[in-house]
Amino acid sequence: MNATPADQRRLLEVAELDARIRTADAARRNPPQAARVNELLARRQQLSPELSIRLGVREDLRRELARIESDVEMVDARRARDAERLATSSNTKEVQGLESELASLARRKSDLEDAELDLMDRLEQADAAVAEQEALIAENNDEGARLSAEGKRIVAEATAAHDQAARDRAAVSATIPPALLALYDRAAVRSSGAALLRRGTCEGCNMVLAGTDLQAIRQAADDLIVTCPECGSILVRTEESGL
Ligand SMILES: [Zn+2]
Repeated sequence: MNATPADQRRLLEVAELDARIRTADAARRNPPQAARVNELLARRQQLSPELSIRLGVREDLRRELARIESDVEMVDARRARDAERLATSSNTKEVQGLESELASLARRKSDLEDAELDLMDRLEQADAAVAEQEALIAENNDEGARLSAEGKRIVAEATAAHDQAARDRAAVSATIPPALLALYDRAAVRSSGAALLRRGTCEGCNMVLAGTDLQAIRQAADDLIVTCPECGSILVRTEESGL
């Protein structure tokens, strides 16, 4: 096929825009933050059930503490009533019974207070365990939110770059003869499509052409399309080609 050297050079612009389109497309499909964001989401799935467990433990302790506090109130009320009756009673048997009950209530209260102290201690630990897990989740969420925002920004930038390159490609393509563009498109399926021949090297695949190939290209007319024997790109010759 034949094409003017100017049309051939415009293929380099198309190839460069196609490379930009591919890069931008890859960036918007898979922003660098995506993997970490997914990791953080998976971690969130692990952190949440543990928080539920710790909240449950704390809730049980709070309930138990409330029960003991109400028991203490009952014992206190009973002791106050017994003490009042003791102060006014003249019946020896009743006095003995009340004294014995007061002693037993005092032991009961002491036991309840020991249990209360122990529970308060455990509740303090449970509070700390909940706070620790909540901090881990907050940290995880903060990093996730920050990376998601960064990822969205990169996707938006890549989309803008992609759309701009696609518009530029359409504009350049419109100036290239359709048959030449079709040839480029076919070559671009398996190569960079078109590449500059610079100092005897194909810039599409970076292969240094053999002397016989260079000799054939040297002898080819300027408007004859030549391709890279290695990658199949249309080789564009300029003053930099080293022919
Ligand atoms: Zn090549």
